[in-house]
Amino acid sequence: MTDTQSRLGPALWEAPPGKWNPDDDDTLVCTQVRAETHDVKSFLFRTASPKLFRFRPGQFITIEAEIDGEVIHRCYTISSPPTRPDTLSITVKRKSGGKVSNWLHDNLKPGVAIKALGPAGDFSCSSHPAPKYLFLSGGSGVTPLMSMSRTFYELGEDRDVVFVHSARAPRDIIFRHELTMMAHGMSRFRTAFVCEELGEQRDWSAPTGYLTLALLKAIVPDLAERVIFCCGPEAYMANARAMLKETGFDMAHYHEESFSFERLSPEEQAETQDAPAEVAGGSFKIEFTKSGRTIDCRPDQFILDAAKAAGMRLPFSCARGLCGSCKSKKLSGQVAMTHGGGIRQREIDAGMILVCCSKPLGDVVIEK
Ligand SMILES: Cc1cc2nc3c(=O)[nH]c(=O)nc-3n(C[C@H](O)[C@H](O)[C@H](O)COP(=O)(O)OP(=O)(O)OC[C@H]3O[C@@H](n4cnc5c(N)ncnc54)[C@H](O)[C@@H]3O)c2cc1C
Repeated sequence: MTDTQSRLGPALWEAPPGKWNPDDDDTLVCTQVRAETHDVKSFLFRTASPKLFRFRPGQFITIEAEIDGEVIHRCYTISSPPTRPDTLSITVKRKSGGKVSNWLHDNLKPGVAIKALGPAGDFSCSSHPAPKYLFLSGGSGVTPLMSMSRTFYELGEDRDVVFVHSARAPRDIIFRHELTMMAHGMSRFRTAFVCEELGEQRDWSAPTGYLTLALLKAIVPDLAERVIFCCGPEAYMANARAMLKETGFDMAHYHEESFSFERLSPEEQAETQDAPAEVAGGSFKIEFTKSGRTIDCRPDQFILDAAKAAGMRLPFSCARGLCGSCKSKKLSGQVAMTHGGGIRQREIDAGMILVCCSKPLGDVVIEK
């Protein structure tokens, strides 16, 4: 490895490299793998040629993995803070039967390159500055809150943060030691771990069971004064919302990130249900060459929604133009696309579109 590759030579200290732009080079090289728990690993990356990562704490990248000849996209929150711009890490929990998480755990080693897009997402404390925060996380939902906490720690911002993390058992607590260390270093940063069960650890004095409203109020008596960031499994977040509503918490100060994208907001659900399956006039024809289907799509309708309404099953994930899962080749026709970073400019120039955020401007033919 040369000095430039290792970046420990003069290159690191002299002229600062430019900002990473996946449009120019989307290759990330794994530099280190860290076992966080028995089924969670952090993967550290740097860019192929010297570049700095710029992102807001809480944002995610989309990994593009080629597994058995199939290109699969998955989003992973950046767990490192933006204050360490030479490197970026993701922290991945192995999911039983999951394609990408298991592939990453088994194959991503130092020196292995992977393609990535991003950063994207608006779940960030930097978008909602507040004097007091409550971070609520469950399982791997700790990652965006860890990036935010690491940012405060490294900037020396002694913020009033209560970080309540729920895990199955003490051995499943991700970043346990680092969170404890940060709490020692910042006088107004507190952690509380809530475990469902003890597992093998018998010397555990913290509460066990699920997070209840009584417990939450005991840990955070000034709950109502805080801006809340919550991330975890769907059931965990539903429980958090229900508890907060019960206390009369002002939900304008509540922000959450879902790792599944499958739960639509009530407004999005209403939109999908209202969309008529068949529109007699005023619609365009969308032809899918591989599946041999042609459907109608209104000019005000996203192609993905029209395809779903017509009973087609296209790959998609975020449905917000962020993750890139629904990327498709447009063979002819024009669309109006309002993506959120899930597609590179050079891909757009080559005729690719994200069907989740593209509305037809006429008849369109898509290779799908
Ligand atoms: C914004 C965002 C940020 C995220 N950040 C993180 C993060 O920081 N860390 C992290 O670990 N994850 C994160 N995720 C989740 C991550 O993107 C993946 O969803 C996760 O790693 C699982 O992917 P997979 O390919 O391993 O599993 P998948 O292959 O997608 O499978 C998921 C589950 O579904 C089951 N399954 C798959 N196919 C079928 C089928 N046909 N029938 C029945 N069951 C099936 C699998 O057995 C598995 O249990 C994030 C997601 C989003 C949207």
